[in-house]
Amino acid sequence: MNLSAKINVFFVAIAAGLIVILVAISLYAFRSFSIASSSEHIRTAAEIVRVHLTESMINGVIDKRESFLKRLMEVQGLSSARVVRSPLVVQQFGTGLSEESPTDDIEAQVLREGRPQYEIVETADDTLIRGTIPFIATNRGSPNCLECHNVQEGMVLGAVTMQVSIGALKHKAMMTVAGIIGAVALFAGITFFLIRRTVQPIAVTAHNVEDAVQRALRGDFKGKVEQMTEDEIGQIAGDMNRLLGFLDDGLTRIGDNVARLTNKTTAADENQLDATIAMVDGLTRAAHFKQAIEEDETKAEIHQRLARTLEQEFKIGEYSLYEMVPNKNQMVPLFVDGNLDGSCRWCDPQILVRSEGCRARRTGHVVDGVTNPAICYAFQPPNEAPERSHICLPIIQSGAVANVLQLVVRPGDEARIQSLIPYVSVYLREAAPVLETKRLMETLKESSLRDPMTGLNNRRFLEEYVETLIANVQRRSTQVAVLMLDLDYFKMVNDTYGHDAGDAVIKALAKLLRQTVRASDLVIRFGGEEFLVILVDTPPENADMVAEKIRASVEQLEVQAGHVVLKKTISIGIADFPHDSDTFWQAVKFADVALYRAKEQGRNQVVRFNTSMWGDDKKY
Ligand code: GH3
Ligand code: MG
Ligand code: MG
Repeated sequence: MNLSAKINVFFVAIAAGLIVILVAISLYAFRSFSIASSSEHIRTAAEIVRVHLTESMINGVIDKRESFLKRLMEVQGLSSARVVRSPLVVQQFGTGLSEESPTDDIEAQVLREGRPQYEIVETADDTLIRGTIPFIATNRGSPNCLECHNVQEGMVLGAVTMQVSIGALKHKAMMTVAGIIGAVALFAGITFFLIRRTVQPIAVTAHNVEDAVQRALRGDFKGKVEQMTEDEIGQIAGDMNRLLGFLDDGLTRIGDNVARLTNKTTAADENQLDATIAMVDGLTRAAHFKQAIEEDETKAEIHQRLARTLEQEFKIGEYSLYEMVPNKNQMVPLFVDGNLDGSCRWCDPQILVRSEGCRARRTGHVVDGVTNPAICYAFQPPNEAPERSHICLPIIQSGAVANVLQLVVRPGDEARIQSLIPYVSVYLREAAPVLETKRLMETLKESSLRDPMTGLNNRRFLEEYVETLIANVQRRSTQVAVLMLDLDYFKMVNDTYGHDAGDAVIKALAKLLRQTVRASDLVIRFGGEEFLVILVDTPPENADMVAEKIRASVEQLEVQAGHVVLKKTISIGIADFPHDSDTFWQAVKFADVALYRAKEQGRNQVVRFNTSMWGDDKKY
């Protein structure tokens, strides 16, 4: 029940209650008053009758009493008057007139007991009060009753019964009650009207405020509350409007800014508030994501975090994350459906060797295969997972596509994935600069650990890597062979053919070394034309064979330097770790000792370290 209805009910109840109470009181008062005043009338009239009868007896005209009673009845309101004789009077004077014997129990009782009796008599067209008043013998005054009546004082001589109409009084009472009802109704009506005038704006304003709040909960802050009065209620309406305006303005600004960040616009039927909250939530999570990846050490960790976010936060289980190979028309899959397996599950594998085939990579734009099926021919879902579509998002670094994130969309999941795109894009946008920084740092570090001329790792790399190397050797209880290599009479090449020819020989040698050993072995440019080859998990006899193979290959190697073809030889010293030495660096030193011995013994040969060399030559 609203406020207005409550007030109506309250008022009707109060007015009705008031009227009932007033009417009841009025009717009771009138009844009591009517009875009292009529009884008084009857008593007065009875006294007059008594005086008249007494006078008539004294004057000897008692016979004329009937005409007196008839005349008495002409008095207004008096409808009947009858005198009855008590048995004592009958005894003394006879029965009297015919109608002077008691006719009912009341008269008989009054004659017996000497007490007046009153009763209300309802007739068809009137209401009467009937009173029967006894005449009691008394000796007071002169003449008095006892002078004529032969009775004792206090005895009942007779009674008079009279009826007085109270119809007029009743009519007056009804008129008064009607007047009271009218007055109360008028008063209630006026009060009701005045209160309604006061309450109406409160009720309407309350209703409007409720309406506006309901709209606000649905995200619509455009509602207005009509200001109906200048009082506190009007003030509430005005304040409510100001609050709504403020919220609408603030929310629109936040929404616009957030929408700009996510490139997402809220649909007309969307709850503006919910949409904005969701977008701010998304941005906050993206900010946390950025903070986390900034603290990640490597690009690989960031890729992994991105993959986890896709799976856990966005509930996307099928996707590919590709990385472009710098300066090459190639790309590699980093993560596919949460696996680091490097396969190309969702696309034509051709794109790996010809990245131009990837539309997102080529255009740098989002490729939406949901809205635009068959937009990219490279998208080829496997037979076991048909009917998929895709949305591919490029990650741009320094104006070029560095990664492509491919979201694979299951049938029925299209709308959800599309609604996620703005948020995923925010993550990618946050990740791009961090990935770029990490890439630059990794490149920088890589370059400081690599010799630019040959592309081989340098001595610094070995210094950084040696701990891992030793840990692996110890964990697997294996050994490594350390080969120290130095070209023979190399200075002569520089001196005779110039530095460029010397460089060409060094480059050719580096290539030969890389090709001769396994990928897991390390080839390090240790100094000018000195190289270190570390053969992992290789027993001594195998190491000797590899060293000999290298020596022989170098002997065969022909290097084209300008117009001349150069041929060189190489000397190699070998030591094993931990077989020959306590520490890795000691093994390097021992290999160098062996190399020195090879040079001493005539060059172009392989010499294995033994302890006698160490004892012989203390200069190392
Ligand atoms: P040995 O057989 O005793 O080793 O004689 P060698 O002439 O090779 O003597 P040594 O190893 O002492 O000489 C190294 C020479 O290698 C000195 C330097 O001019 C040359 N060299 C070192 N690094 C480079 C390089 O990067 N490019 C060129 N062109 N020459 C280099
Ligand atoms: Mg040298
Ligand atoms: Mg040399």
